[in-house]
Amino acid sequence: TPTVGVLALQGDVREHLHALETVGLRGVPVRRERELDAVEALVIPGGESTTIDKLLRAFDLFGPVQARLRAGMPAYGSCAGMILLADRVLDGIDGQQTLGGVDVTVRRNAFGRQVDSFETDLTIDGIDEPLHAVFIRAPWVEEVGPAARVVGRVESGPAAGRIVAVRQGPLLVTSFHPEVTGDVRVHELFGRIVRESL
Ligand code: GLN
Repeated sequence: TPTVGVLALQGDVREHLHALETVGLRGVPVRRERELDAVEALVIPGGESTTIDKLLRAFDLFGPVQARLRAGMPAYGSCAGMILLADRVLDGIDGQQTLGGVDVTVRRNAFGRQVDSFETDLTIDGIDEPLHAVFIRAPWVEEVGPAARVVGRVESGPAAGRIVAVRQGPLLVTSFHPEVTGDVRVHELFGRIVRESL
């Protein structure tokens, strides 16, 4: 059974651990470098990307997580986690930096000008039936570089067409929060990505 860490500095850690266990992965919280060393993959939860960025540095985890990502560790980032895994960020605070890995430009709090938080059904490439996506002050993906592949878009409403899920090799990012709905199919998809890459 692959061991998947959940970065446990801030955000909805418990929900991700629960979803990972539900799809047959071993989920463990990661707060220290030695805990990172013990995992085969990492989930970066939603929360506040600027806070998680600061805490990554305060816990001496920024460099080690970035090094693991560069070495090919599979990772799934939801919402703030998507921002942290993006190579470029717009509307970041004070020159906010990211871990990077996914060749996209994300815009923080992008839906805010239309609706702060909302829910909609959408289809994700790799998941057969539509899923219910919950967006909370979410980013969207504004530009996608050649290395990344769009796997999901908003399908209706004022934000129709906006890119909200992207895959690049062993990295998966979504603007929305699958861990709050009880639908574990995004975690199941990530589990397949983890098992393929081991
Ligand atoms: N707006 C938050 C950020 O910029 C993300 C919100 C979330 O993760 N739910 O990090």
